[in-house]
Amino acid sequence: MRNLDDLDVKGRRVLVRADLNVPLDGETITDDGRIRASLPTLRALAGNGAKVIVCAHLGRPKGEVKPEFSLRPVARRLGELLGQDVAFASDVAGDGARATVEGLQEGQVALLENLRFEPGETAKDDAERRAFAERLAGLAELYVGDGFGAVHRKHASVYDVPALLPHAAGGLIAAEVDVLRKLTEDTERPYVVVLGGAKVSDKLGVIANLLTRVDRLLIGGGMAYTFLKAQGHEVGGSLLQEDQLDQVRGFLAEAAERGVDLVLPVDVLAATDFAADAAFDVVPADAIPADRQGLDIGPRTRELFAGKLADARTVFWNGPMGVFEFDAFAGGTRAVAEALISSDAFTVVGGGDSAAAVRRLGLPEDGFSHISTGGGASLEYLEGKTLPGLAALED
Ligand code: ADP
Ligand code: MG
Repeated sequence: MRNLDDLDVKGRRVLVRADLNVPLDGETITDDGRIRASLPTLRALAGNGAKVIVCAHLGRPKGEVKPEFSLRPVARRLGELLGQDVAFASDVAGDGARATVEGLQEGQVALLENLRFEPGETAKDDAERRAFAERLAGLAELYVGDGFGAVHRKHASVYDVPALLPHAAGGLIAAEVDVLRKLTEDTERPYVVVLGGAKVSDKLGVIANLLTRVDRLLIGGGMAYTFLKAQGHEVGGSLLQEDQLDQVRGFLAEAAERGVDLVLPVDVLAATDFAADAAFDVVPADAIPADRQGLDIGPRTRELFAGKLADARTVFWNGPMGVFEFDAFAGGTRAVAEALISSDAFTVVGGGDSAAAVRRLGLPEDGFSHISTGGGASLEYLEGKTLPGLAALED
């Protein structure tokens, strides 16, 4: 993969695919982590005299122009963080975009409107996607792929445009790939993976692949209940995916065969309802009352997990241990995060909600070796899949 240093960008129009898909409350950006993560590449390009054209998506407007998904608030925030004006194009690749791009001087930055206002961006049909890619590529002379959070998508701006322009990987993608390589090649052991989050079905592929690589797999969060049920325990009203029970039994058997230490919660916070102010008790994981639901791992589990993390050399953590959005059920997630922070291991956090949890709990982001900007993308990489946006940058 070529990187930024291999491109001569001075005076040239460079299209950068960034990941600026931030959470919005109206027009207020509630977490600008992804904008910040895109700054180094944009600064490097502008500093080298490029005319920088940034493209990105926001939410799922499904191929229609929907004002509530406009990137305009992002352009404003990007300008504040860069410390220079960011021109905002009124469309993605039409007259507005062309006019904005023509007005750019060396070192200036423009942001195009939400890529997903164009149906061609996400089209399954190759010709339709390619036609949009040609319009987008027509705005620029060079392409830089830096939207790590979108590289697992076969979308026009990620997959088709790099085939049409000389291209390179931006600093963010280069850094993310570097980290993911350390989790898949010559990984230092003990290698411990902590998985949580809501659904086990989201993470089947990654569990299957990790079982062949890791020394320990700690499972918490909503997905733990499908494992507990698969072991024959009742889980009350906890999150449960009945249709995954066979698959999960297979994982338990495979872990035993391979000698992987698969660790499940031994106690949980069993709540009366799914609510911030729900009453709860700490109960053993094999004795969850029928009218209760597990919303966090319990204190003994927190200690157990911390112990399993203490001597790790490499840790990957994806998915909160409980419903961290409710303060009363954030303790398990905090305990795992703190165990990572105090460990000497190479520690990687993947997953949008896990990264959001770290920030929400006020934990220092630099306490981890790396916080990935792409949840789905990093999981698919760890599943061993080929990611379209990385493949496109290879050749
Ligand atoms: P990530 O984005 O880090 O990959 P996921 O999207 O898989 O994580 O899961 C995050 C969600 O899982 C959070 O919204 C959290 O509230 C939810 N969750 C965690 N534990 C539980 C639980 N015990 N019951 C219900 N939901 C849970
Ligand atoms: Mg999530």
